[in-house]
Amino acid sequence: MEDCIFCKIIKGEIPSNKVYEDEEILAFHDINPATPIHILVVPKKHIESLVHLEKEDEVLVGKIYGVINKIAEEQGFKDEGFRVIVNCGENGGQEVMHLHFHILAGKRLGEKIV
Ligand code: AMP
Ligand code: ZN
Repeated sequence: MEDCIFCKIIKGEIPSNKVYEDEEILAFHDINPATPIHILVVPKKHIESLVHLEKEDEVLVGKIYGVINKIAEEQGFKDEGFRVIVNCGENGGQEVMHLHFHILAGKRLGEKIV
């Protein structure tokens, strides 16, 4: 947790370009955007990945999707559409071991895997 880059962003020890914040959730622009709009939504609680979610976190995950919806509306890409991705574990390509939801928007995404 001490070495977790997203925990450091949450604590304000590393700067970020914030989009949304409440008591439980923070959203900020990805430092290396894959699309014209690339926002990360993270729980402030350090949860390593999707498989580390516990029963008590289910409400939090619901709130995260609510925040994603709010961001889509506020940032003006709700109607044109967007993609939400959660990379999990080694095969999922997860690099930062703090649960995060990628919001990709601002262009037509071609490489559909599913
Ligand atoms: P993942 O590969 O799903 O673990 O995604 C990690 C994401 O975090 C990548 O898209 C990185 O560009 C992004 N990232 C890493 N460090 C920072 C940072 N300091 N500020 C914003 N985004 C970051
Ligand atoms: Zn963390």
